[in-house]
Amino acid sequence: MTAKPLDCIVLGAGGGAGSAALFHLARRGARVLGLDRFEPGHDRGSSHGETRIIRRAYFEHPGYVPLLLRAYELWADLEARSGRRLLVETGLLQVGPPDGAVVPGVLRSAREHGLEVEELAAAEIEGRFPGFRAPPGFRGVLERRAGYLLVEECVRAHAAEARRLGAELRAGRAGDAALEWRAEGGGVAVRTGSGEHRAASLVIAPGPWAPALLRGLGLALEVRRKPLLWYRTATPDYRADRGAPAFLFELPEGVFYGFPEIAGGELKVSEHTGGERVEDPLRVDRSLRDSDRAPVERFLARQLPGVTPECLRHAVCMYTMTPDEHFVLGRHPAHARVAFAAGLSGHGFKLTCVLGEALADLALDGATRLPVGFLGPERAGLRGI
Ligand SMILES: Cc1cc2nc3c(=O)[nH]c(=O)nc-3n(C[C@H](O)[C@H](O)[C@H](O)COP(=O)(O)OP(=O)(O)OC[C@H]3O[C@@H](n4cnc5c(N)ncnc54)[C@H](O)[C@@H]3O)c2cc1C
Repeated sequence: MTAKPLDCIVLGAGGGAGSAALFHLARRGARVLGLDRFEPGHDRGSSHGETRIIRRAYFEHPGYVPLLLRAYELWADLEARSGRRLLVETGLLQVGPPDGAVVPGVLRSAREHGLEVEELAAAEIEGRFPGFRAPPGFRGVLERRAGYLLVEECVRAHAAEARRLGAELRAGRAGDAALEWRAEGGGVAVRTGSGEHRAASLVIAPGPWAPALLRGLGLALEVRRKPLLWYRTATPDYRADRGAPAFLFELPEGVFYGFPEIAGGELKVSEHTGGERVEDPLRVDRSLRDSDRAPVERFLARQLPGVTPECLRHAVCMYTMTPDEHFVLGRHPAHARVAFAAGLSGHGFKLTCVLGEALADLALDGATRLPVGFLGPERAGLRGI
């Protein structure tokens, strides 16, 4: 007896969007195979480092808000299915100039979608949150229902639930990496180091490997090295269990963000802006440089003075940036059976559950009812200047 042919193959099934696509394909009853060079929850791509911020009042574009509302539902569903805690609501304090990108953007999304946020003057911020200092004249917005996701747990939960629903996942060996994919005979073929697989459709969720796996699309993507740093706190003002929120500051020197102290006197902080260009994600420099620490420590000294300059540990992660810093999600313009999500531009993890749902729809039905049209690959400017 010959095995039933596959409905779909997912490349990148050990990463954020790929594990979610694998889960949604399996949830819809598809026969699906996931492939990845690394195991779900690995630290070689873009989905590691313990935590990721999730928020609704999105300063980047109000079009994300309906997707974020769906993301909160899907993370809750995954928590219920897996019995794991994935999302922790600590609130998020965003600080910036009144005419910057962040504060007006948050207020716009909140207004357009009726979301609850609280505005704070610079002087009020320290009174409410004694560990934080805002530059004079800056404004704050507090979104209470925001918080963080436990990033590796989310990826592992998607992969485990997909397997429980019948998906096959081959991950963790060099032979599980796709060497080549092609559309042929109304379906797709994927060649790995250990053989060739055929299916009716293909999902590509390649993270920082997008420039290689989606080369034919000619997208102007830039992969950036992004260090994450953990510092020792000197006061209890940053403890989540004492009401300290996650935070994001838009400052003239850059955008910095971080998380309240969750356990053990450690606070994680990072710079969102900047980052060295990465040519080969497998060879990114994972050491900690003085030039990684300096801007972060200047930020801490000014804005979070109760955090010591004692860096306890670090990790190196990668962003994959598009020219307009919005994701690219859709069907391959030349191959209708191929759907992809790429260029998550340093803010995509919170939405990987929804991207996975949309990818499953695109692969199985050729269309999705989720409002993702504004992220389509046909929009202007994606192929560079
Ligand atoms: C430091 C840092 C902080 C961030 N903070 C936030 C935040 O607070 N909130 C937020 O929402 N987002 C945040 N992001 C962004 C978010 O984490 C990423 O957008 C998201 O994790 C990207 O997921 P992905 O699935 O595209 O990539 P990945 O998770 O890297 O997945 C890609 C997968 O493809 C696999 N792959 C590649 N090539 C092949 C191949 N040939 N064959 C098979 N498999 C292959 C890889 O092994 C990998 O598992 C942050 C990112 C970083 C780096």
